[in-house]
Amino acid sequence: MTAVIRPGSVLGVLGSGQLGRMFAIAARRMGYRVHTFSPDKETPTGQVADREVYAPYEDLDALAKFAQNVDVVTFEFENVPSAASECVARIVPVRPGGQVLHITQNRLREKTFLRSQGVPTAPFETVRNLDELEAAIARIGTPAVLKTAGFGYDGKGQAVIRQPSDAAAAWQAIGAVEAVLEGFIDFAGEVSVVAARGLAGDFAHYGVVENIHRNHILDVSIADAALPPQLTAEAVEIARTLLEALDVVGVLCVEFFVTRDQRLLVNELAPRPHNSGHFTFDACITSQFEQQVRAVCGLPLGATDLLRPAAMANLLGDIWSEGEPNWAAACSDPDVKLHLYGKAEPRPGRKMGHLTAFGQTRDQAKAKVVAARDALLKRS
Ligand code: AMP
Repeated sequence: MTAVIRPGSVLGVLGSGQLGRMFAIAARRMGYRVHTFSPDKETPTGQVADREVYAPYEDLDALAKFAQNVDVVTFEFENVPSAASECVARIVPVRPGGQVLHITQNRLREKTFLRSQGVPTAPFETVRNLDELEAAIARIGTPAVLKTAGFGYDGKGQAVIRQPSDAAAAWQAIGAVEAVLEGFIDFAGEVSVVAARGLAGDFAHYGVVENIHRNHILDVSIADAALPPQLTAEAVEIARTLLEALDVVGVLCVEFFVTRDQRLLVNELAPRPHNSGHFTFDACITSQFEQQVRAVCGLPLGATDLLRPAAMANLLGDIWSEGEPNWAAACSDPDVKLHLYGKAEPRPGRKMGHLTAFGQTRDQAKAKVVAARDALLKRS
């Protein structure tokens, strides 16, 4: 029997963005208290947490104090320094564990791990200097994508190489740091699997989600992607293999490319709830956030059934460029749910919230969510 962290206990979250906010909402609904730790004040998570601690992730004294006041620690942001999670782990359990952070916060380690598990990825090579980049381009060919090994997300730290003569400019563009060169995949589509694993090794998943990106940022997700059944089964099996191999206790998202000849290639792992699983908050019996609470507390995982066809659209700060969005117009469809993250400054490209819409079919749910988002821009 694994020890259950009972309701009333305090859950610590490293990071303070929207993922922590939705985790905190799920946790508080179940009677837990939540403390968040990040370098910022008045944060999306802090606004709904019981306590918001702000200090740099390098401040190990502050982290130790934070850890002493909580019963378990999880994270909503994987780029915390490993010294921070190690410091916390000396005091309370960290779930998922530091080994998951270590692998997933560095693209080279992640891809090497994927390869070691026999999981298909885009062709890739390690690049530490311009000579290695030129040699890698000669092997992989163009077009290719150069990505920093560490601390990249939403297309940050990436440069597309269209021809070999782009090498020097791309190397400078990513800051001349350790990187991975990937073959450019002319994909038919992008999908993801959000899955959870409990302390006792139980596994749950939300099926395959179709994702549409715009400017490298997730734009729209549609639950229950229209993939051939064997590809759906393969995607879920890859997720299961990875959660088990990494010994994840918590939630992990696997992002895939679907090639034009119907193969799956893993692009990225995120060891926490993921933007492509936000629809689960409204549309599934147990959301990805509640699943994270259950897993880190040693509770059994909940059912993941999709209640109705659903789709999600992100709301970026760009929507505010002409003034306050027309919330009433977006909500005029009663099948649309509004989520805002409490961020004060709507900068372009910043994730400010999302909409979830329900339909009779997945196509109708997608059409409704896009129409509701378009309606935000209608001036009355
Ligand atoms: P990432 O930060 O690696 O998740 O990349 C963000 C998005 O950029 C992906 O979801 C794709 O839409 C695009 N992208 C990244 N890597 C590649 C690649 N090797 N080939 C084609 N598109 C890519």
